[in-house]
Amino acid sequence: MLAAGAAAAWFLSKQWLRSVATLEEAARGLSTSELGKRRLFVPSDDEELAALAASFNHLLDRLEAAHTGQQRFTADASHELRTPLTVLRGEIEVALRKPRSAEEYRAVLVSNKEEIERLSRLTENMLALAQVDVGDAIAQRESLRVDDLCQSVAAKLHPLAVSQSIDLAVEDASQEPPVIAGDRIAIERVLHNLIENAIRYSPSGEHVLVRTSRSGNEVRIEVIDHGSGIAPEHVPHLFERFYRVDKARSRAHGGSGLGLSIVQALVEAHQGSVSVDSTVGRGSTFTVRLPAA
Ligand code: ADP
Repeated sequence: MLAAGAAAAWFLSKQWLRSVATLEEAARGLSTSELGKRRLFVPSDDEELAALAASFNHLLDRLEAAHTGQQRFTADASHELRTPLTVLRGEIEVALRKPRSAEEYRAVLVSNKEEIERLSRLTENMLALAQVDVGDAIAQRESLRVDDLCQSVAAKLHPLAVSQSIDLAVEDASQEPPVIAGDRIAIERVLHNLIENAIRYSPSGEHVLVRTSRSGNEVRIEVIDHGSGIAPEHVPHLFERFYRVDKARSRAHGGSGLGLSIVQALVEAHQGSVSVDSTVGRGSTFTVRLPAA
């Protein structure tokens, strides 16, 4: 019996090891370029190995999604960086073609400066996203009153609102103080991006309202505009990196389509959420929900 038992154990373990070796060989044979195409064979006769292969395939799915996202980000970022660089090069080449007056050189330099500012903003935004991705966006958590933060961000954006004849108002509808535990710079950035968009995408003469409120364990910030609104087919993509509804209009004010993705990443890093409710021609409301402190 002992001999028979040993032989059976030897046979079974050999078979199991062979299956493991097949899986291991298949996993090792997967190159980066095959990440999206090949998956490991899931054996039907061995439950444990099937579970192992299935979870490995699940990991491959996630790796593939991350890899594709990375590739798309690099392609979009290169394209965004190339556009201002091409404009800069073209302007400088035309300016150098023949001697010009001081006035003409000045005009070229002014336009060059605009493109350089666009490049700086873009790299700054990319850096902000990279910081969130590596988990560095929240340097410290302190007790913050969002109604005060909204007031101070609105004060900074007041000149922009005035230049576009927008009436920018902040109101607090909280019964208790709307306090959160967060990173001041990150939350200011969230508010800045949302309020700036509300101003930029509103026709002159309109109102923009920033309303804060607290109900129970939730602090809510609503940025309400009566601008162009967003068509339903664009809404699901708004928070994607580099997504813009109207490229020309967004580029005209130096936008690169990163603003809302930064908002979402920072809010989620604070265990919150952001959503949008919009009607074309009537305006949009962006709502940020954060856990109250
Ligand atoms: P951008 O830098 O282009 O403004 P965002 O990520 O901030 O990038 O916004 C993405 C797109 O969402 C914008 O290009 C714009 O078309 C649309 N959008 C954002 N906010 C609003 C708003 N308040 N009203 C209408 N459209 C908006």
